Amino acid sequence: MTNSKVYAELTDWVKRVHLLGTVAELMGWDEQVNLPPGAADQRAAQQAALAGATHAAASDPRLGAWLAALEADGALTPDQRAVVKVARRDYDRATKLPPDFVREKAAQSSRGYHAWARAKAHNDFASYAPVLAQNLEFAKREARYLGWEGREYDYMIDKHDPGMSAGVIAKLFAELKRDLVPLVRAIGASPVKPRGDALQGLPVEGQRTFLREVTERLGFDYQCGRIDVSLHPFCTGTGADVRMTTRFKEHEPLDSLFSSIHETGHGLYEQGLAKEHLGTALGIHAGMAVHESQSRLWENQVARSRGFWRCFEPRLREVFPAQTAKVSSDELYLAINTVAPTLIRVDADEVTYNLHIILRFELEQRLFSGQLAVTDLPAAWKAAAQELLGLTPPNDREGVLQDVHWSDGAFGYFPSYCLGNMMAAQLWYRALALRPTLEEDFARGDFRWLLGWLRENIHLQGRRYDMLELTRRVTGEDLSPKHLIRYLRERYGVLYRV
Ligand code: ZN
Repeated sequence: MTNSKVYAELTDWVKRVHLLGTVAELMGWDEQVNLPPGAADQRAAQQAALAGATHAAASDPRLGAWLAALEADGALTPDQRAVVKVARRDYDRATKLPPDFVREKAAQSSRGYHAWARAKAHNDFASYAPVLAQNLEFAKREARYLGWEGREYDYMIDKHDPGMSAGVIAKLFAELKRDLVPLVRAIGASPVKPRGDALQGLPVEGQRTFLREVTERLGFDYQCGRIDVSLHPFCTGTGADVRMTTRFKEHEPLDSLFSSIHETGHGLYEQGLAKEHLGTALGIHAGMAVHESQSRLWENQVARSRGFWRCFEPRLREVFPAQTAKVSSDELYLAINTVAPTLIRVDADEVTYNLHIILRFELEQRLFSGQLAVTDLPAAWKAAAQELLGLTPPNDREGVLQDVHWSDGAFGYFPSYCLGNMMAAQLWYRALALRPTLEEDFARGDFRWLLGWLRENIHLQGRRYDMLELTRRVTGEDLSPKHLIRYLRERYGVLYRV
């Protein structure tokens, strides 16, 4: 077989494995949106059967032979090399973990979730500590099987954000922390206080209409996607079938709206991938942090801007005339941009959110290096929360037990959120430099330039480049927290007069 034929075989196969993955995603979406309660066991069996078929396809020995042939070929184009590199990474993950380990890990993951849920309900970290310690051991073993001995935490980070490492993140976060902690303190001490009651009691039907109009205007293609209701908002699917979810709360309409815009950012990325390459490195996202950069750019830089609200405020007042009658434009805008430290990450505003992530990253680093024992986590968490947020959790439920991630062994995931914020701000200033009238576009309800620019520079790039390289290529400089700090100072410094 000639190598061009081998390359065609490889890409066909990779796309097929990816297709199986999209079926699993669709079943996962259905499970959270539609599944009748009595069907849970049947769905678990369906998912297990599909996972078996997917793993068999992903570890097919022919893939190994094709990869070896292509890796020895010096004449591949840069695009082909990118496809081969990502396929190799996936193939190694599918073949280098012993089947016994994979089985044990799946059982551990389910044990972990239940132990965490119980511990959280009873505020009982001690009962969860041994399971969490085992999760840590499983993560380290997985890293070693894949050749990351001695760099286990780097493996966990690279798993979510290819090319990223703990050392790079530590440097970025240290710089961010230096400037962010004083900014949060200054905002906290500001006499400017948002009205907590500015938007309450908004009927769900109106919220549904409004957020549909907003997300459609931003560019989400409802011919190739949908939005439904689930307990926790998420976005799944790719290409021509992207599924978003939201939830409605009459007294927290901003939560529904902004989480929908966040998921729309994820959805626009997936809808913008190169259709003909879906599944290969040329048609998949570049990692969790880049994904978050897209959701957060739309949620924060765009949807919290004055320009955006010049467009949508009149419509909001039209849909909710009674509820908005006693709220001035300035009060509305300040309520949308409320900043107040909280103990809970998922309730945090976009300024303090980053401190929640730095806290988790610093603890993960110490857990992996052995400097911190799992049993000492609750105390370490409390101390870090006091240092970073100026708040001490009164109990572990509002501290170390609040997030589900570690219960599933998903270490190294948290940094993606904050890296995404950094990248979003850096992309924002690059876009503004190229088109200084961006907010005037928004005020007219026109988001096409921004979406077009992201399509070309981020979405259609797929996974050709890792996050650091992609940032450099698009913005002309290395990823840096200085853009995020500048953005937060510009937006919140004015609002809170600090
Ligand atoms: Zn997200």
